[in-house]
Amino acid sequence: MSPQAANAVVNLLGKSAEELRVFLESLGEPGYRGAQIYRALYAERRFDFAAMTNLPAALRERLSREASIALPQIVRRHRSSDGTVRYVLAIGEGKAANVETVFMPEENRQTICISTQAGCAVDCRFCLTATLGLVRNLTAGEIVGQVLVALEDNRAALKPQTNIVLMGQGEPLLNFNAVMAALRILLDPKGVAIAPRHAALSTSGIVPGIERLAREKVRPNLAISLNASSNEQRDKIMPINRKYPLEKLLEACRNYPLRPREWLLFEYVLLGGFNDSPEDAHRVVRLLANLRAKVNLIPWNPGDLPHKRPDPRRVEEFQRVLIEKGVPCFIRDSRGQDVMAACGQLALAESAASPASA
Ligand code: SAH
Ligand code: SF4
Repeated sequence: MSPQAANAVVNLLGKSAEELRVFLESLGEPGYRGAQIYRALYAERRFDFAAMTNLPAALRERLSREASIALPQIVRRHRSSDGTVRYVLAIGEGKAANVETVFMPEENRQTICISTQAGCAVDCRFCLTATLGLVRNLTAGEIVGQVLVALEDNRAALKPQTNIVLMGQGEPLLNFNAVMAALRILLDPKGVAIAPRHAALSTSGIVPGIERLAREKVRPNLAISLNASSNEQRDKIMPINRKYPLEKLLEACRNYPLRPREWLLFEYVLLGGFNDSPEDAHRVVRLLANLRAKVNLIPWNPGDLPHKRPDPRRVEEFQRVLIEKGVPCFIRDSRGQDVMAACGQLALAESAASPASA
């Protein structure tokens, strides 16, 4: 194919129903063909125009020349002993890059953890993704594509419910427009059809992004990486805290319009000997006063960084303090640690313990 012809090919993955309608009309086709392609792509996961049998043959043939479906390509699958799969995916709209997506099967559902940026600029001191720096923002198609690839690769074993968490590489609120465009497709009952209550977006605390998310009609649950019990402590491990300190962050949280039965989730990475004392737990209780909040404690997952895993007794004690003070608190069991698939371990490691298969 000549370079000109290649340039003329339009990637349809990531386009909204409205954008597909406009595109089809620009080809001289009726607008409803856009809705048919939207359904085929996102609800039925047909990634080949030839398989879109509800379209006339001539249109399928034309689309195969003038349009594409740029699905992320699986470079590697790292399978954990607990069933978790860490995918390394090659994405290539714009600058080629690799990102990671994690598939976690459970008894009655699967949870898919997706990346929103390649790498991350936020530079939290405990997180391996930070060591990559920011490579680039992902497009809406690259974000939706991760979910579609993970579902398709596990098609035979899918459970009825799918949860998604925006907790992979990247800071979702620093790629707001693409993340929201992707979420509109993922949470659309006519699209990928994930229930909004089964979706969560985790942020390091980008206050303007939280304020923008608050104004969205359809949105996932919000999770905030608190990770410290004072500004002094948070400054040391999350440089972003100097820009958006705890007062500002918690004010944005208090102003966040929670719906009935909606909670704010605060994540708290426990770093042994640093932020895991009972005094820290008491300070967290005070910080979260007047908020409808739950806390997830995440014992630090090791990587090549100067931190320690917390003593399990400290973790339990921390949890006990919160619960006694009326703050619902859970200990998150991090899955896929043996293949570097757990929180904060996503840095494209190739040296995972278990055999990798492409
Ligand atoms: N960038 C977003 C989402 C991705 S990180 C954010 O920071 O919120 C997802 C969660 O993993 C965050 O709560 C983060 O604090 C946590 N995390 C990062 N590194 C970790 C590590 N090594 N061990 C345990 N949790 C970690
Ligand atoms: Fe980025 Fe989140 Fe890692 Fe911080 S914890 S560096 S925000 S991915």
